[in-house]
Amino acid sequence: MNLILMGLPGAGKGTQAEKISEKYNIPHISTGDMFRQAIKDGTELGKKAKAYMDQGDLVPDEVTVGIVKERLAKDDCEKGFLLDGFPRTIQQAESLQTILQELGESIDYVLHVDVPEEKLVERLTGRRICPTCGKAYHVIYNPPKEAGKCDKDGSALIQREDDQLETVKNRLEVNKKQAQPLLDFYHDKGYLVTINGEQDIDLVFKDIQAKLEQ
Ligand code: AMP
Repeated sequence: MNLILMGLPGAGKGTQAEKISEKYNIPHISTGDMFRQAIKDGTELGKKAKAYMDQGDLVPDEVTVGIVKERLAKDDCEKGFLLDGFPRTIQQAESLQTILQELGESIDYVLHVDVPEEKLVERLTGRRICPTCGKAYHVIYNPPKEAGKCDKDGSALIQREDDQLETVKNRLEVNKKQAQPLLDFYHDKGYLVTINGEQDIDLVFKDIQAKLEQ
């Protein structure tokens, strides 16, 4: 099962990725996570990636494609894989086709977790975080027992700067522009499956399972 997961920030991609990876026993390969880990470990890759990530820019394709190629060649990808955050450019998508061809593999589905933009704005701007323990809440969908206070330690909840309205709108706009050519690319190849991401987490996963097991 060779899968790519796509979706805008707030669409619940991370949550679904965990579920898919567990259910089908395939590794969840997130290029963002790989870069963050490399930065933490202080590796050469981390040093290369950090400057770009700090600026909010994409890491150059040759670097990103290189790490994905290495990762897909590992034994645990034999049964399949779930790519998350990659590809982000058409060049990456084309390189991926070549890498898979060399491995004698191909993509089965590109799952697009689709949520209307207004809903994403509501999800992201409603997010609140406990500065002490890191627990996340949502003012409407997952509120703390007492408004504005962490259930665990009573700290005053905060809104992260990048969850503020203007930043959120901007982030969504940038991501949408980046994603559209890829959605078109995979649609044209017949791989694209659109999942209604506006439903409850379990229903979204049910839809994904139904598609994968069709
Ligand atoms: P993410 O966690 O997927 O939002 O990724 C965090 C950051 O890692 C991005 O803002 C980019 O700087 C970098 N990154 C992750 N995936 C890619 C990719 N496929 N191509 C280029 N840069 C990436």
